[in-house]
Formats: sequence, C-alpha cells, structure tokens
Amino acid sequence: MRMRKKKNLASRMERVRSLLVENPERFSGSWDKLSSGRPLHLEIGCGKGKFITETASANPNVFFVALEKIADVLVMAMEKASREGLTNVLFIRSDAAMLEEYFSSGEITRIYLNFSDPWPSKRHQKRRLTSEGFLNIYRKILSGDGSVCLKTDNRDFFEFSVRELERCGWRVENVTFDLHGAMQQTAASQGSTDTGGDAGNSNGYPPAFNPEGEAVTEYEQRFASMGVPICRLVAFPADADIDKP
Ligand code: SAH
Repeated sequence: MRMRKKKNLASRMERVRSLLVENPERFSGSWDKLSSGRPLHLEIGCGKGKFITETASANPNVFFVALEKIADVLVMAMEKASREGLTNVLFIRSDAAMLEEYFSSGEITRIYLNFSDPWPSKRHQKRRLTSEGFLNIYRKILSGDGSVCLKTDNRDFFEFSVRELERCGWRVENVTFDLHGAMQQTAASQGSTDTGGDAGNSNGYPPAFNPEGEAVTEYEQRFASMGVPICRLVAFPADADIDKP
C-alpha cells in the first residue's frame, strides 16, 4: 500500500500510543496477561484497520493483535480502534519476519492474511507471506488447534499459497475461489438474500461478515464491489499436535 507521507504522524501516533505495543518481544510467552486469557488472533498487514476493528468489535471474547509495517496506515487503524473504544485489540509496527521474536510457541490461535502483497515476480517469491519461511514461523507460533485464514483477490497468489501450504504439509480446508458468490448461494438456499445484514447495498456486495465472524476488509470491499471474485482458505499445520500445548 503506497501512500504519501502523512503530516503530523508523530503527534497522531502519540495520541493513540496506548494501543501500540512497543518492544513486543517483552510479551513473548505472556500475552495472556494482555488478553486476559482470551484466544489470541493476529492479523498480518492490517492496513487502515477496517477488518481488525470490525472483527474485534464483533468478537469480544477474542483478543486481537494487528501487525503492520507502514506507520502511515497503521496510525489510521489505531485511530479507528481508539474512536470505537475497543479494549480487545493492540497494534504492532513491524515486519512479519519478526514474529518469532514476539510470540512464543503455540501462543496464537489464528492468523489472518488479508490481501497480502502478492509479489508476483518469481525473484521475490520468498517475500510472499505464504512462502515456506513464513509458514514455518506461523507453524511455530500457532497453537495445536490454530489456523491460518487467507483471503485475496489475486488468483495466482492464491494458487501459489495452496501449493506451498500443501508442499509444506499443511491441511488446507474450505477453499473457495468466489467467497461472496458462495455466501450469496448459501443465503439463497436458506431462503434468505441477507448475507450479513448489509442493508442499503443495492448489488448485495459486500456482505458485512465472512464465515466465522470475520469482517470484510478494505481491499475486499473494493474488489468485490468491482465484481472481482475473492478467494479464501483456512489452513492447519498438520503436525500441530506434536510438542504443542
Ligand atoms: N489487510 C488490508 C490491507 C491489505 S494491503 C486489507 O485487506 O484491506 C497489504 C498490507 O500488508 C499493507 O498495508 C502492507 O504494508 C502490509 N504488509 C505487507 N507485507 C508485510 C509484512 N511483511 N509485515 C507487515 N506488514 C506487511
């Protein structure tokens, strides 16, 4: 996500500072103190924070941590959470490559990858957030019943992700190449056209929530309203029951 440098970034950041976890490595192994024992869900690359704030608001029994490497968008996500008075979400400004320093083995129950940068060139394959190096980090910090939930509009990145997950021994489930179409069909077969209470949206896109209570993201809203199909999957590290709490 490219943005022009925001003015007053430092003072804006200062105002919402209580939502920022600085030096997050000091909480490795003790996030339950912050989460009050609630399951911990992590979004990698939260952008402007629509997903994390709406999902946190709808799921008070879960504690959310959002990671974002670009301060200009992170501050917008933090301001959103602050405006809404959310008490079950915190933010980290960092890169996904650092996650192993911040969370100890088995500490996270779900990781969300929403519209991650696809890095289409083969040369940059290792930067994709579903490449083997990252999957190994996720496997380590996920709990025994933990999972990765991935959504993207990019079909090539999605297909790469499925292949890479399977090659690395993950169990891939609930694969859909058209999430919004599938949800509309489900709603229709249940005798309802309401796929999530999005009253006032004439073409029915996007429904307010995806399966499992996740909010629609900024990118998802934009692409779905243009008619671009959204791909989604859930993946489980297959050997998760070994050496895990
Ligand atoms: N999740 C949002 C934004 C998608 S754009 C949505 O669906 O609307 C991808 C976001 O991920 C950008 O904000 C980018 O800065 C962030 N990002 C990409 N790679 C990252 C990494 N390695 N670590 C942390 N954030 C990353």
